[in-house]
Amino acid sequence: MTGLSDSFQRPINYLRISVTDRCNLRCTYCMPSGGVSLLPHGEILSYEEIYTVAQAAAELGVNKVRLTGGEPLVRAGLPQLIEMLAQIEAIDDISLTTNGTLLGGYAAELKQAGLRRVNVSLDTLKQDKFKLITRNGDNLGEVLEGIEVARSAGLNPVKLNMVVMAGVNDDELLDFATKTIAEEWHVRFIELMPFVGKGTNAPRFISANEMRQRLEQLGGLESCLPGIGNGPAKYFRFAHARGTVGFIAPISEHFCFHCNRLRLTADGKLRPCLLSEYEIDLKQPLRSGISLAGLKQLIEEAVANKPLRHRMAEGYVPKERPFSQVGG
Ligand code: SAM
Repeated sequence: MTGLSDSFQRPINYLRISVTDRCNLRCTYCMPSGGVSLLPHGEILSYEEIYTVAQAAAELGVNKVRLTGGEPLVRAGLPQLIEMLAQIEAIDDISLTTNGTLLGGYAAELKQAGLRRVNVSLDTLKQDKFKLITRNGDNLGEVLEGIEVARSAGLNPVKLNMVVMAGVNDDELLDFATKTIAEEWHVRFIELMPFVGKGTNAPRFISANEMRQRLEQLGGLESCLPGIGNGPAKYFRFAHARGTVGFIAPISEHFCFHCNRLRLTADGKLRPCLLSEYEIDLKQPLRSGISLAGLKQLIEEAVANKPLRHRMAEGYVPKERPFSQVGG
């Protein structure tokens, strides 16, 4: 096999880069109520350092990059980073995961810089609930507008990610699904993962299977191909619908067997698995002048240590760093 592959013969071609640990929302399922201690600016990789890691990864076979956070759009100059990454010839797909609050103001510039597509986290269509889930957001209107602006700017497709929580937003499952029939909405319903460090999300968990059964009140679902980006979601469509629904089941189904990802945290740790604490520091070597060849060796070492699967279904919860800090 050419390119990068781990010890279980999974091809690794996708790097998720967290560009900041800062976020302008504080979603209950993602961040502890007391917030998190933020990294000093000097601890965060510069855009040049991120570029160097991406370049080394690309030389090893990575061709897809996704920018995430924290909230990536709160970091100044994100379009410049995208422009830099777009110059790496082997990288043919640059995407972004965002909460959408700042997307409207940036979409055109991001597209111009080389961004191809965007995923927006959207857990509710109701302003009062948006405020409750995000702990401080009055800006649902801005998110919805950002989605439209992104579409008009040609960021295609815009996928919407909804983390489904019993008693919080599961009453909106059908509202989201209905949107996929009349409009070109691509909604992915995500199983709630345990809260890092506390593991207290369990009472709110709903399996992808149950979500699907509830959606079928609206009609039968036909399986369809993922289109662009073959991540962990399984996609379906209602008959004659303009959009699609997808399910991401990190808990009830093991999506690990097809995992093709590496993650770079904002402070320069390379993690081969979101849900395990194993990581390799790249920041210190970068700041000590490591060669590209040396960097590639470190990336290969991380890949060689990629675990076969996470153990959350057995009750294991990673102890350190909430998703806001790893780049969920
Ligand atoms: N700020 C950006 C956003 O809101 O999309 C990017 C970072 S956010 C940590 C990335 C993704 O992680 C979001 O789609 C969010 O829904 C997901 N996420 C965070 N905590 C989660 C949890 N406990 N269970 C499932 N998904 C989670």
